[in-house]
Formats: sequence, C-alpha cells, structure tokens
Amino acid sequence: MKTKRQVNLRFPREPLLIEIERRCSFPDCGGRTHIGLTKSEAIEYRGFDCTQCERWNDDRLGEREVPEAWHGPIQPTQS
Ligand SMILES: [Zn+2]
Repeated sequence: MKTKRQVNLRFPREPLLIEIERRCSFPDCGGRTHIGLTKSEAIEYRGFDCTQCERWNDDRLGEREVPEAWHGPIQPTQS
C-alpha cells in the first residue's frame, strides 16, 4: 500500500502585529495613544494606559481592527 506523504508547507499570511490608535476617554486629557498588539496581546486586550495622563481606559478591539485570521480566539466588538 502506498502512503501519500503529506508535506504541509503552508505559510498563512498572518500579520504579526496590529496597530491601533486611541484617544483617552477622559475629557480633561483626550491624549492620543498608539498601541501595537501582537496576536496574544490582542486576545488579552481590555484597555490601555493613556500615554499622557497614565490613567486606565477600558477598551475593546473593533471588528475592523482585528485581522480576519485572528478571528476565533479574538471576539471583536461590532463597530
Ligand atoms: Zn489621558
């Protein structure tokens, strides 16, 4: 019997990092924060520390910000 050798050489084109831009939700600040997230960071993402006032902002990733290849482990909010 002949066994087919399967060589799996598929390299899915997954982005390694996504970058998002957020504005601080505190009205007295409103500072801009650039956030770079790896896939595992994006899964855990629940918010960010403002780079200006250093306060915590609750946040979720929007559907358009998460690459489709990452959907599944990441449940983006509908935007
Ligand atoms: Zn701020």
